[in-house]
Amino acid sequence: MNDNNKDWPELVSGRGSHLAEVKAYYGKYQDNKRKEEFAHALQLVEEKIKALRNKTPNLPYSKTKLAEVEINKFFYEGETVDRVMIVLRSNGCQHYKKNGGCSMCAHLNGSPLMDKITHANYVEQWNSVLDGSFIEKEGSFNLNDYPVVCVYNLGSLLNEEEISKETIKYIFSTLNEYKGVKKVIIESRAEYVKEDMLKVIRDVYDGVVEVGIGVESTNKTIRQLCHHKDIDDDSIFKDACDALHKFNMKALAYVNFKPIFLTEQEAISDAISTSVDCFKKYGFDAVSIEPTSLQENSLANHMYILGQYRVPWLWSLRDIIHGIYDRLEKQDLDIRLGGYFDEEVLSGSQGTGFGDRNEIFPHMTSSNCSHCTQNFVEHIKKFNMTYDVKDLDEVEPCKYCYSIWQDTKNIRDSRDIIQRIDDLFGRKWYSWNLDVEFVTKNSSIHSNKLGIDMKI
Ligand code: SF4
Ligand SMILES: [Zn+2]
Repeated sequence: MNDNNKDWPELVSGRGSHLAEVKAYYGKYQDNKRKEEFAHALQLVEEKIKALRNKTPNLPYSKTKLAEVEINKFFYEGETVDRVMIVLRSNGCQHYKKNGGCSMCAHLNGSPLMDKITHANYVEQWNSVLDGSFIEKEGSFNLNDYPVVCVYNLGSLLNEEEISKETIKYIFSTLNEYKGVKKVIIESRAEYVKEDMLKVIRDVYDGVVEVGIGVESTNKTIRQLCHHKDIDDDSIFKDACDALHKFNMKALAYVNFKPIFLTEQEAISDAISTSVDCFKKYGFDAVSIEPTSLQENSLANHMYILGQYRVPWLWSLRDIIHGIYDRLEKQDLDIRLGGYFDEEVLSGSQGTGFGDRNEIFPHMTSSNCSHCTQNFVEHIKKFNMTYDVKDLDEVEPCKYCYSIWQDTKNIRDSRDIIQRIDDLFGRKWYSWNLDVEFVTKNSSIHSNKLGIDMKI
C-alpha cells in the first residue's frame, strides 16, 4: 500500500479520519486487483487450450458426407419414441476457432480446419438424409419414422458464420414436409439465438423446435475460468429464452457437470444451482445435465493425463437430481441426463475417433467402479425415459466404491479457483515431484505424483 500513498485519501496523509473514503478506496483497489488476477488466470487457461488445439489433426473429411447419423430413444410427451441424431460435417465452432473453445470440448476434431463447407455441400449432405442414401448399412431410412430429429453441426446452427441462413431455410423447409417428425432439436451458443434467425426457421417450419444452449454454469468464475465459455454476461441466456418463446420455440439448457479445477462436491453444488437458475432466472423449459467426458485434445483430457482430473462419479448424479427437485419443490421437471442412450449408429463416422468411432467420440465417460458402472448407466437410461428420480434411488450402494465416492465428496480445497489455476499453469516449475495424499474421514483414497507439467 505504501507505494500508493500519493493516491490515498487524507487519512494516510494524517489530515483526518475519512474511513468511508478509505474503505471505498481499498474496496476499489481490491476489485482492480481481483480483476487483474481473474484476467491473468483466464489468459493462462486460454494459452493452455490453444497450445492443445494446435495439436488437433487436420483431417481431410469429405465435405458432402454427414459426420454421423445415429438412432436412440427419447422421452417425448409421456412416451418413449425413436430419435434420429444427424450430425452435419460442418465449418466448426467459431468460439473454438477463435479462442480455443471450451475446456471440456473437442468438437473441432470432427471439422475440416482448412476447408469451407458451402451451402451446396450442406444441401448435398442433407439430401442424403431425405433420400436415405447416406445409409451405409443394409436397410432403408425414412425421416417420417422419427418423431424427434436432432440436427447438429458440432457448433452453433444459428451462427451465420458457421452455416448460412439460406442453408437453414432449406433444411427446415424440407422438414416441414415430414409430418411424422414432431420435434426438431438444434444447438447454438446463446449469442446467436436472435430473432432474425428464428424468423427464418418459423417462416418455413411450423413444428416444435427446441434449441439446446450451452449454459454450463451460472457462476461466472466457473463458466469463464473452468469452462472457458467466453460468456461474460449471463443476461444473454434470458434474452435467448425470451426470443425463443416469442417464436413459440423451446429452450433447453446444457449444464456441464464437473468442469476442471472443481472438487466433486463443488461440482455437484454448481450443477444444482445452475439448473435451478436455468429454470427460475432465465426461463429455460428443460435442462440437460452433461457429465464431463474426455475427448482427445481437450483441456479436461490434458488435466486427466496429468493426474489432475477425474471424470464425475455417477453416484453424484443422484445428489444433483434430488438437489434440483428439492430446491424447486417439484418432481416433474424436464431434466435429462445427457450422453446415455442405447444408440445405433447408421452411418457417417470416418472412424478416426476412439475405438474407430465418430471423431468426437469420448474415450472416457463419467463412471463409478468397474463393478457397478454399467448397472448405474442402465438406471440413468431408465431415468431419461421417466424423469423419475426413484429410478436412480433404487441402485444399491456398491461395496467396492460407494464409500470411496462418499470420501471424495469430503475433499475440500481451501484455494480459490484463480489460485488453483495459477498453481497448475502459472508457476515456473523446473522440477516438481511431490507425493500428495488426500486423506479423508474414512480412508486414504488417492495418492498421486503431481508436477508432470513442466513450464520453463
Ligand atoms: S462446447 Fe459448444 S461452444 Fe464450446 S467449444 Fe464446443 S461447440 Fe464450441
Ligand atoms: Zn462400484
